[in-house]
Amino acid sequence: MRVVFLGAPGVGKGTQAERVAAQYRLAKISTGDLLREAVRNQTTLGVEAKNFMDQGQLVPDSVVVGLVRNKLSDPSCANGFFLDGFPRTVTQAEELGKVLQSKSTALDLVVNFHVSREDVVRRLSGRRSCPKCQATFHVDFAKPKVDEVCDRCGDQLVQRSDDRRDAIETRLKVYDEQTAPLVRYYDERRLLSSVDGSGSVDVVFQHLLNVLTPYQVR
Ligand code: AMP
Repeated sequence: MRVVFLGAPGVGKGTQAERVAAQYRLAKISTGDLLREAVRNQTTLGVEAKNFMDQGQLVPDSVVVGLVRNKLSDPSCANGFFLDGFPRTVTQAEELGKVLQSKSTALDLVVNFHVSREDVVRRLSGRRSCPKCQATFHVDFAKPKVDEVCDRCGDQLVQRSDDRRDAIETRLKVYDEQTAPLVRYYDERRLLSSVDGSGSVDVVFQHLLNVLTPYQVR
């Protein structure tokens, strides 16, 4: 099962990718997570990516495609994968197609999550994450037991620099301009399915499983 998760920032792609990858025991590749790890480790790539990320802009295609190409060569991806947050431009989609073709494989499905713009802004601006273990919480919808403290490891929660209002606006604009065209791109290739991402994590997960079930036994 080779699946791409598409949708604006804040639609819950990452949360669902995490759950579904565990359910099917397949790899989850999140370019946002890979880039944040590079930033934390202050690698050359991380230093290059940081400014783009802080401002809510996309990291250059060549950087991100290189990251994904490496990951897809990993044996953990041999049986399939869920791609979260990649591709985000038509160029990235074309490059992904080439990488998979060189391995004599192709995508099975692209799941497009949709949530109202108002909900997306609420989800992103209230999101808090743990800088130590990367667990995520929300000030209204997934409160930690103790305010601003990670349930899992006890570290102080922080707001991601790109979850601040001005960066959120930029990310949504970038999504509309550069990523939304992928909905049509994949629809034309008959790969697109839609999932309503507006319910609870459990409800959305059920919708997602319904969409994925026909691909399960391939
Ligand atoms: P995410 O966690 O998916 O919201 O990604 C956080 C940030 O990482 C984005 O706002 C971009 O700056 C960068 N990023 C993640 N994935 C990509 C991608 N496929 N192309 C370019 N930049 C990306």
